[in-house]
Amino acid sequence: MSKLNQDLVDDVERTVRDNADELISLRRYFHAHPELSHQESETTAELAERLEKLGFDVHVRDEGTGLYADLVPDDFDPNTDPTVAIRSDIDALPIEEQNDVPYASTREGVMHACGHDVHMAIVTGAGRAIDAIEDQLNGRLRLIFQHAEEAVTGGAREMVAFGAMDGVDAIIGVHCDPELETGRIGIREGAFTAGFENFDITIIGQGGHGARPHQCIDPIYVATQVANALYQAIGRNFDARDPAVLSIGSIEGGDAPNAIPETAEIQGTVRTMSEEHQQKIQPLLKRTVAGVCMAHDAKYELDVQYGAPAIYNDPTIVEQIEQVGRDMLGEVNIEHISLPSMGSEDFSMYLESAPGAMFRLGTAGVGPRHRLHSPEFDIDERAISIGAYMLARTAVRLVDLVDQRTEPRTEQAVEKTQASHRERREQPFDDETPVSVEEAES
Ligand SMILES: [Zn+2]
Ligand SMILES: [Zn+2]
Repeated sequence: MSKLNQDLVDDVERTVRDNADELISLRRYFHAHPELSHQESETTAELAERLEKLGFDVHVRDEGTGLYADLVPDDFDPNTDPTVAIRSDIDALPIEEQNDVPYASTREGVMHACGHDVHMAIVTGAGRAIDAIEDQLNGRLRLIFQHAEEAVTGGAREMVAFGAMDGVDAIIGVHCDPELETGRIGIREGAFTAGFENFDITIIGQGGHGARPHQCIDPIYVATQVANALYQAIGRNFDARDPAVLSIGSIEGGDAPNAIPETAEIQGTVRTMSEEHQQKIQPLLKRTVAGVCMAHDAKYELDVQYGAPAIYNDPTIVEQIEQVGRDMLGEVNIEHISLPSMGSEDFSMYLESAPGAMFRLGTAGVGPRHRLHSPEFDIDERAISIGAYMLARTAVRLVDLVDQRTEPRTEQAVEKTQASHRERREQPFDDETPVSVEEAES
């Protein structure tokens, strides 16, 4: 490492250390003032004000939720110089906090139970550390503060549409991991989290007396057949070496023990790891639901909501995270995650525009461990400076790495990837088409 680089690293470290207490206060402020997905206007305004004060060029969406902020060196040339982005999510969950801490949520039924308050503090801290060495930076730094990560139609897609990824060469992100000790990070090359879609099926039958089902079309009975058929269809249609999982989270119908209702509703989610499998979901759901309903003379409505693709962590970028982690925390504190998660994260939407990677940040302290989305979720706040330092240093390395590239990024390649995903998302889903007997038998 050159002398200059070592100085740079020291400067980054010093800035993070000097601001450690302030980052904790910032996290506590956000924790006490959580806002639900698509309602994060106060959070966005607070971030915008802070970033503007630091000299960032801030772009807030017209809706007032979600922003990106640029740190642009004086001699920056967008055509040749690199841009590296760091992403944080900003939304909270509809959960009533059960922690008795001074910074507990002040808003009834809303809580930062997924650590997005922590992410905001970390990414602000990283931005501040890089701001301190701005004159030595060979490119542009972009911080993306994304709304509505927890929503099915996640905010990432809207941030990309807003231009947050325009000109970005590489992107990194982090997520708290309450099952990993503070001072450790989790990394993985390639598949990191699954792609997902949610579905909503309404079975339409014919109600009547429970004593005379032969005079009715029982939507509850049909719903149980649909549920069984869906569980079985996954195992029979997807290559077992490429994971896919379907779960039904809700079945509803009827009000009385002796009455057959008119309708029943099934809601669920499907998780897949590959693009190939994800493309099969809509047709499979439709075939299965239509076939079972036809067998029982029931009608149906099917709504499939495309969530996000799987995250593919770019190996070169993971290597940079790993090197920073090794240098800062030691080899022993790097957890090589053996299997990807079947959970989902809309960070993957950014990867349609540029390579990137996410890593997990250990936030488990000595006390009891509570999982993400738990009403008792909290973190060991020492993890905040570690996260800020990890992100700042990785971003600086990435700027240098992109700066040394031999081939510039091609807009055509980006356009091609985006188009393939867009096509799938925007495909009109036609649930009206009657299924012919031949189709059902095939
Ligand atoms: Zn979450
Ligand atoms: Zn989260």
